[in-house]
Amino acid sequence: MKITQVDVFAKRLPMASGYNMSSSPVGDPDTTVVALRTDSDLTGWGEICPTGPLPQVEHAGSIRADLDLLGPALIGTDPLRIGLVHDTMAATMDGGQGARSAVDIACWDLLGKSHNERVCDLLGGARMDPVSTYHVVPIGTPDESAQLAEQLQDEGHTKLQLKSGGRHIDEDIDAVHAVARVIRPGVDLFVDCNRGWTVGEAIQVSGACRDLKLAMEQPCATYAECAAARTHLHHPLILDESATDLATIARAIATGVADGFGMKLTRIGGISGMRAVRDLCEASNTPTSCDDSWGGDIIAAACVHVGATLRPHLSRGAWISDPYQAGHYDEANGPRIVDGRIAVPPGPGLGITIPEGYFGPPIASFS
Ligand SMILES: [Mg+2]
Repeated sequence: MKITQVDVFAKRLPMASGYNMSSSPVGDPDTTVVALRTDSDLTGWGEICPTGPLPQVEHAGSIRADLDLLGPALIGTDPLRIGLVHDTMAATMDGGQGARSAVDIACWDLLGKSHNERVCDLLGGARMDPVSTYHVVPIGTPDESAQLAEQLQDEGHTKLQLKSGGRHIDEDIDAVHAVARVIRPGVDLFVDCNRGWTVGEAIQVSGACRDLKLAMEQPCATYAECAAARTHLHHPLILDESATDLATIARAIATGVADGFGMKLTRIGGISGMRAVRDLCEASNTPTSCDDSWGGDIIAAACVHVGATLRPHLSRGAWISDPYQAGHYDEANGPRIVDGRIAVPPGPGLGITIPEGYFGPPIASFS
């Protein structure tokens, strides 16, 4: 098979409900979709959708500029030889991990479609279907946060991620206590600061919550700051934004800096990169999630397919932005959360069918 055309599409994803992190509120994210057209009748779809210029290092504009470089280089390559596709992209540019990840996802979609297999089956098979997920409790007052945590548990969620940071730590501490009070047996609580605390603040919050069963996710801005806080914390430490590549993840495991990871597919090289993280985490009994920043059915399906292949006891869940989205690209098969779990789309590849012309004309096309 040969790639004959690369189309790049842009689409605003209207928010059905609000979502706040320490760095910024999320508003109608701008997704980038890649279609790999081939000399067969198959098209592979990939997607990347940062929430905005914060809190990740890439944004829609930088990703599209990277695809302007990668698109022409991909013409004529065999999308089923995914390692060689990565070699071609690496020979074209340094960086651009997000754009490369979207291409990787589209290649896996083609590989599945060409073999009439689901991506999760190509990755070794689904150990969970439906896949566990976690649900975010956005930054709010203690009462609001506790009320939502109750509601989410009523709906079947067993993993809750409370956002924190971006305000005085006393408010965070009050919210953590309020939510922890309503957490039921068998439910896991993660406090995700999205890099919002100093080392000292992280230590103070952990100390003020020392008797509560929770894990702290990316409390500080950098790997070095998280490592400095680590030995003073009373809670397991999850790395998210600082888990930037496989070597860093291996170091965090080997040195005991991280007790688990919040992983984003498009930060680590797509499905191929996340497969390596999965295997490394399995070899070291380290939990990880399988997420991305935001996006529609294509990236959600990619997260769910890989997330299905995690060992259940090492899965922190596969997060998708479905609860905040106003619609689906594929109303029949787009991943959605039901009773705190997500069914794997049943069709080959990612299992998502994009109606012809759905995204309108491409913003860039290479052939
Ligand atoms: Mg996180």
